[in-house]
Amino acid sequence: MNAMVEVHSVRKSFGLLEVLKGVDLTVRAGEVTVVLGPSGSGKSTLLRTINHLEKADAGWVSVDGSLIGYRRSGDKLYELPERDVLRQRTRIGFVFQDFRLFPHLTVLENVVEAPVFALKRPREAAAARAETLLARVGLADKAGAYPQQLSGGQQQRVAIARALALEPKLLLFDEPTSALDPELVGEVLDVIRDVAARGTTMIVVTHEIGFAREVADTVVFMDDGRVVEQGRPGDVLDAPRHERTRAFLSKVL
Ligand code: ADP
Ligand code: MG
Repeated sequence: MNAMVEVHSVRKSFGLLEVLKGVDLTVRAGEVTVVLGPSGSGKSTLLRTINHLEKADAGWVSVDGSLIGYRRSGDKLYELPERDVLRQRTRIGFVFQDFRLFPHLTVLENVVEAPVFALKRPREAAAARAETLLARVGLADKAGAYPQQLSGGQQQRVAIARALALEPKLLLFDEPTSALDPELVGEVLDVIRDVAARGTTMIVVTHEIGFAREVADTVVFMDDGRVVEQGRPGDVLDAPRHERTRAFLSKVL
């Protein structure tokens, strides 16, 4: 099995609050995993732990065969220096609920800057690729606009193009459509679906059950810091084995 992501017995507390209580997760290369679960169940913390924005208290994460944030020597783990962690993180795209575009840069500049700085790509090559990516997310005509001139759906599509500009091995989405007006959700999900179809490995936290059903290879249900249930969308969504999964689905469906 070709695992792109392995999360092994990850625990994370904030003060006395244990938010991840031993999470295991494997994501195969090219697959889409959708993570469902109630607010506060630890979904965002799990995503942030995968790219080492949060440091696990126990357990480890590997992406594409590399431990994130650590190197192994014998049976010991040693923390990597910050610059090495930053380098690992550049190949793990992260799309946030609230877009987080650079407001003082144009749409094109938002997509060009990251590969120029993080991957040391020549600016012309990065600009050419940015134009291709903007066309792919349907925003070729907005290259010169500033983020605040765009709708939320358009801003999120720029954020996805920007994440793709770093040629990610893995893309993490944290509720990418939760901040959008309902009529703008579809255009963003269409873009994510297209990225998935091109074979990028992704983990998507979302409450969009229809999207999960259609696009996910695996659906993971989290509750109270644990993976309660995981499997194919048809199994988890239509025949959940756990009462907590059933209760959650009855609220969001
Ligand atoms: P979800 O994304 O499933 O809603 P989160 O991972 O954001 O859940 O949060 C899980 C729990 O951890 C919540 O109770 C939240 O308040 C708490 N939490 C998350 N981040 C922090 C933090 N940086 N400091 C303290 N508590 C946090
Ligand atoms: Mg969250």
